[in-house]
Amino acid sequence: MNFHEYQAKQLFADYGIAVPAGQVARTADEAVAAAQAIGGDFWVVKAQIHAGGRGKAGGVKLAKTLDQVREYATAMLGTKMETYQTAGVALPIEQVLVTQATDIAKELYLSVLVDRGTQAVTFIASSDGGVEIEKTAEENPDALHTLNVSYVQGLQAYQCRELGFAMGLNAKQVNQLTKIMLGLFKLFNDRDLALVELNPLAILTNGDLAVLDGKVDSDDNAAFRHPDLVALRDIAQEDATEALAREHDLNYVTMDGDIGCMVNGAGLAMATMDVIKLEGGSPANFLDVGGGATKARVTEAFKLILSSDDVRAIFVNIFGGIVRCDMIAEGIIAAVKDVGVRIPVVVRLEGTNVQAGRDLLKSSGLDIISADDINDGARKVVAAAKKAA
Ligand code: ADP
Ligand code: MG
Repeated sequence: MNFHEYQAKQLFADYGIAVPAGQVARTADEAVAAAQAIGGDFWVVKAQIHAGGRGKAGGVKLAKTLDQVREYATAMLGTKMETYQTAGVALPIEQVLVTQATDIAKELYLSVLVDRGTQAVTFIASSDGGVEIEKTAEENPDALHTLNVSYVQGLQAYQCRELGFAMGLNAKQVNQLTKIMLGLFKLFNDRDLALVELNPLAILTNGDLAVLDGKVDSDDNAAFRHPDLVALRDIAQEDATEALAREHDLNYVTMDGDIGCMVNGAGLAMATMDVIKLEGGSPANFLDVGGGATKARVTEAFKLILSSDDVRAIFVNIFGGIVRCDMIAEGIIAAVKDVGVRIPVVVRLEGTNVQAGRDLLKSSGLDIISADDINDGARKVVAAAKKAA
């Protein structure tokens, strides 16, 4: 689950990490009031969306007067913003963060994540931060410093100091960095986070470090332990289909192809997408209906797939291990009748009660193309999608 910058900064503050004074605003009046409450002569008005890259897209504006605060807040609120991180989707701006403007001498990068390779909570830092860390990683990987934290010992202050000196910071900055890192490490573990990113962590002209941007992503599997984090969820920022899928306990990820996939088991779902690609097609989604798929869930899954106008054919690929093929067949038949599927549906069933399942499909009178195995199914669905294109 992703959080807004203003929420991330609140979490940082809760863990003793200093952040520039700021207030979130939902209207232009609130933005002006926020700027007045913060005081000073300069403010930054920042669009709150679940993505970075806002600076380049016009979502981070320096205001030199209260009138400019009003002007920028008015221009942003109620609009939608696309950045290089939103994958072609425009996200609604319902809030802006009004914050103190600072004088930046240099921009650094600091993040915390779980490195699966080393199975360790890992800090990645760069003295070459700023708007596009992705480029640094590609073009100048030596500028990145990595610190794997021992699960047993936890993060030690000396490790933070080593990292700070490697980044070329002076003694005062190294102490500030150490405080930030120890706070982030505790936050990361306490709240079961998946990613924290400070980009930029800035060196100000007065030499102090300042946290100017914050991205936080939490581990959904631990959501049940953190109702206060779940309460911060902003569904307006999420993919509508994926949010709906979550309500039905379906693992669904929107993709950009035209072949809808309904599969049980995440591994088989991945393999199905691979085989579709191999046959020259392109999946419209990843969907794992789960081992305990019921008739109702199969119906919901069909509705989800059909909610996209891009889908030209559907591939149902079920291996009945725990789940029975005849029950899946009943679900497919009910769903097709219920939601009125008008595009080709290719079905491959294998496993428990497979014959009963195939018989049900055959006698249903529905226009279903049956497949013998995954390769046969992929070939048939790719051909069907191409014909419909
Ligand atoms: P994004 O990563 O979405 O582009 P950031 O919060 O990183 O948004 O802002 C983009 C750039 O704007 C930063 O790299 C920094 O140069 C500048 N900036 C952000 N916040 C402030 C601030 N409070 N004071 C001065 N400059 C800022
Ligand atoms: Mg940023």
